[in-house]
Amino acid sequence: MRYEEFHRRSIEQPEAFWAEQARAIDWHRPPERILVYDDPPFRRWFAGGETNLCHNAVDRHLEARADQLALVAISTETGTTREISYRELHREVNTFAAVLRALDVGRGDRVVIYMPNIAEAVFAMLACARIGAVHSVVFGGFAAHNLALRIDDARPKLLIAADAGSRGGKAIPYKPLVDAACAEAGTPPPHVLMVDRGLDPGYARVEGRDVDYAALRERHAGEQVDVAWLESNEPSYLLYTSGTTGKPKGVQRDVGGYAVALALSMWAIYDVRAGQAMFSTSDVGWAVGHSYNVYGPLIAGATSILYEGLPTAPDPGIWWRICERYGVHTMFSSPTGIRVLKKQDPAWLKKHDLSALRYLFLAGEPLDEPTAHWITEGIGKTVIDNYWQTETGWPVLALMPGVEMKPVKFGSPGLPMPGYDLRVIDEATGEEAAPNRKGVLVIEPPLPPGCMTTVWNDDARFLRSYFSHFKPLVYSSLDWAIRDDDGYTFILGRTDDVINVAGHRLGTREIEESVSSHPDVAEAAVIGVRDELKGQVPVVFATLRQAGGEAATAAREMRECVSRQLGAVARPARVYVVGALPKTRSGKLLRRSLQALAEQRDPGDLSTLDDPNALEEVRRALARGADAE
Ligand code: ATP
Ligand code: MG
Repeated sequence: MRYEEFHRRSIEQPEAFWAEQARAIDWHRPPERILVYDDPPFRRWFAGGETNLCHNAVDRHLEARADQLALVAISTETGTTREISYRELHREVNTFAAVLRALDVGRGDRVVIYMPNIAEAVFAMLACARIGAVHSVVFGGFAAHNLALRIDDARPKLLIAADAGSRGGKAIPYKPLVDAACAEAGTPPPHVLMVDRGLDPGYARVEGRDVDYAALRERHAGEQVDVAWLESNEPSYLLYTSGTTGKPKGVQRDVGGYAVALALSMWAIYDVRAGQAMFSTSDVGWAVGHSYNVYGPLIAGATSILYEGLPTAPDPGIWWRICERYGVHTMFSSPTGIRVLKKQDPAWLKKHDLSALRYLFLAGEPLDEPTAHWITEGIGKTVIDNYWQTETGWPVLALMPGVEMKPVKFGSPGLPMPGYDLRVIDEATGEEAAPNRKGVLVIEPPLPPGCMTTVWNDDARFLRSYFSHFKPLVYSSLDWAIRDDDGYTFILGRTDDVINVAGHRLGTREIEESVSSHPDVAEAAVIGVRDELKGQVPVVFATLRQAGGEAATAAREMRECVSRQLGAVARPARVYVVGALPKTRSGKLLRRSLQALAEQRDPGDLSTLDDPNALEEVRRALARGADAE
């Protein structure tokens, strides 16, 4: 089938389209109505239907593929690889579910999971899904304060934690953070279930509150726990957005719509079928981890590869070695991950047999053209940029090799995915922007299956955050975009990342793209800094591919690059070459903190900051003065 026809049908006949897609999963009770849309923008997909994510991800495959690998959990931090078949996964998840029940966790109760990228995190998520408990995974490595905020919002009956994560071979104890978070939280959970990896021997235990998973696992081993059949629109999980732009929002997901959307995305977008292997380098703490390390591949009956470790350890060939070892068909990573490899010898890309690998998907932030070229040539595979948000749970823009492979256009994440009725609209008039004209990317409601149903406990915030920007009612992505004559969409950055230079509105992304085209630049962040004369001026912070490269020359050339490509008005006022850029734990540039520092303001909430050194680098650079101005 052709892409256009497939997409058009999903928009023009949504009920027929999604009724068909819904057959890809098991229903305990079939839906009574495919779509109920009587209270816009709230909508209910597959109303009256009863199903279960864990059943679809695990039990359903026992008949045909019990001995096939379901999950491979590789840690180069601890030097361990665990190969888990569907049969073993079923056993582990049942045992974990029995432990949850013994701790009085039931349907609708929230469970916060604060764990590294290890198999037990997956067991815990699936066990919650099995009994109808609502998990909320908090990225391990978020600070105690972040964890406390999420605890108070989700009010969990149980917190599941590991003793420690590990990074670069160094154990990072989680227990002190858990204890601090429970002390700070207004509504701490009555129990903390500890998965002991032996990385932090002798961690402090709180009597009466902390329970040990290993002991309970032994006690409940072999128990079977019935699947809780949930109405399609009951909550399956909560996941807080990254918090790049402010206070994180508790994205609430449903059951049936999510399962159906993932099932579709697995074959249509990622081209993965039962029995094939998918390797996503994400963390279970992110949206990508939820959808494409856990639920998506397992619902599809595929093998999911989970990785704990750096992309460069023990050497920069590790990802490709994993692809070779497990015959990975589709890999999923982020532009940040690829830019880390870009600082290494490209020979690492060629050392392994990648004959099984067909696609590399990248998502999470803009994929600049030079990086897209570099990796495409380096591995000789199709690289597909895909755009989505925690809120949507699966791609909004991508290409669909499983339906019809359209040409890749570097710099664009491609075309609208099924069910997404997208528009680019003029911010001032609310009218649809002409092709090649910049506007805000919006989704015409109802949002397709899989997208968030609301903000947890806060319908008002859901409406205010996403649906209050334009009339009539549309979902605002809060990202700038343009659509070209072929319908390809280009993302130009967030609506709050716009600089106003002497009355000209410039997207930081466009300037970053231009700076990144300089061959020595590894990564660039552009911000608007207050200026008496012009209102704002663009300022660049960049890292170089070769540490110790000639900073002043490169900085001068970056300014010229921008003037040449975008015009003198976009010419950066100052360029600072730094050793590292401040990013969130999910690898996104913290532009608001950069901007605050450059304007001598307080950098604000730094709890999502990944590497404090990066901020110090910026402070030092600002004190030292620009490399070109
Ligand atoms: P918060 O909403 O809390 O500020 P966040 O927006 O960083 O955090 P996510 O949901 O993880 O949280 O990120 C989604 C955003 O990431 C998108 O809105 C977009 O700005 C950016 N993004 C994701 N994928 C792409 C892509 N392929 N190209 C360009 N931008 C992307
Ligand atoms: Mg966002």
